[in-house]
Amino acid sequence: MIEIEARLAELGALGLGRRTRLVSGPQGPHVLLDGKPVLLLCSNNYLGLADHPRVREAAADAAMRWGVGAGASRLVSGTMTIHRRLEERLAAFKGRETALLFGSGYLANAGVIAALARPGDVVFSDQLNHASIIDGCRLSRAEVFVYSHLDVEHLAWGIEQARGRAALIVTDGVFSMDGDVAPLPELVELARRHNLRLIVDEAHGTGALGPGGRGAAAAAGVEEEVDVIVGTLGKALGSYGAFAACDRQMARYLVNAARTFIFSTALPPPAAAGAMAALDLLEERPHRVDRLASNAAAMRAELEHEGFDLRGARTQIVPLVVGDAQLAMRICEAALAQGVFAQAIRPPTVPPMTSRLRLAVMASHREEELRSAARTIAQAARAAGFEPRTRLDPGAEESAWQLQPAQTGPAAGEPPPPRGAPRPFDHEAPAPIARAA
Ligand code: PMP
Repeated sequence: MIEIEARLAELGALGLGRRTRLVSGPQGPHVLLDGKPVLLLCSNNYLGLADHPRVREAAADAAMRWGVGAGASRLVSGTMTIHRRLEERLAAFKGRETALLFGSGYLANAGVIAALARPGDVVFSDQLNHASIIDGCRLSRAEVFVYSHLDVEHLAWGIEQARGRAALIVTDGVFSMDGDVAPLPELVELARRHNLRLIVDEAHGTGALGPGGRGAAAAAGVEEEVDVIVGTLGKALGSYGAFAACDRQMARYLVNAARTFIFSTALPPPAAAGAMAALDLLEERPHRVDRLASNAAAMRAELEHEGFDLRGARTQIVPLVVGDAQLAMRICEAALAQGVFAQAIRPPTVPPMTSRLRLAVMASHREEELRSAARTIAQAARAAGFEPRTRLDPGAEESAWQLQPAQTGPAAGEPPPPRGAPRPFDHEAPAPIARAA
């Protein structure tokens, strides 16, 4: 039996304890956090649509027209007209034949991956993929080859080793904690050459990258080459839920095989209608996407001016990696005391020794307040004992990686890690396999 108190104490001792904070009012660029007004720099409401009057009205009207709940899985009590309309809109937006709604991005990734990979197959997954992808891989019971972040060469080598057992490649389009972008043209090329399926999770690309905010795959011109594009409605589209955009045959298969679609209640009508209104706004006023990009560029420039190493981030997600989990928490609290809320992100959300502040810029921020927040965060970092110009020793991170047991924990028969020693809980490490010479 798990000793809950001991487990919580262990997390606390590692600086990995978590609690939620109370926000009053909607998720705008400013919020009341635990009763105090702050600039919100960690919401995925990138385009500021979650509290837009038209999105609110659409959700409220849908509640009056169709009710609040969908009642059951669509395979049981049916597809509501609002689901069908939203799927048509999303398919057109993503330039695909069709789209299938899921309850959330987590459910979409878990369902799609587990439907497309089986025991005996091999799934190739980027080292920094989102937890929902990792869990989808686990659910599939396929073998998982975790390739080094963005490393196409490592991936190609892994595919060679799999010798025909390969099933699919799965990657975040924009990486959620790093703000960098997957090498999609190269992944498409590898998938084509080896006859593999490719799944791209556009949770953070949708509404943020590419023409009209169509995503990272559209930005790279490979939208139609990706077998399944997963997108969420809960981030730039200001609502809740998710979708898989694909061809009709794939959608028919997912309806029959994706357990998170089959065994979970359909999306609530207000969430579907809110997302549809957000899509309308995005298509009517694509300049929101440009505003997001220019705000993000202003934020990155000011942080770089303060000396932070942004590690190749080039989107609205900006990581300030400081290494130690407790240090990241101290910086977060010091910035919060000055009215800037940028959440500290620690393992297992990110690999050991790469704790960070993860800043998320919104189109509805003012450029000047972002610049000023960058200066506040730099001061907070210094006050907490971290000089932004510090370059973290990449070797330290590397060795931290090699200490981690691969995949889900120690192998059978291996002793558990000593109490109090840093351990990944359930973060994935890259495949511990040597590269080809
Ligand atoms: N994929 C990525 C890359 C994410 O960052 C997230 C959420 N943070 C999800 C999927 C899950 O999406 P949702 O919040 O809709 O469950």
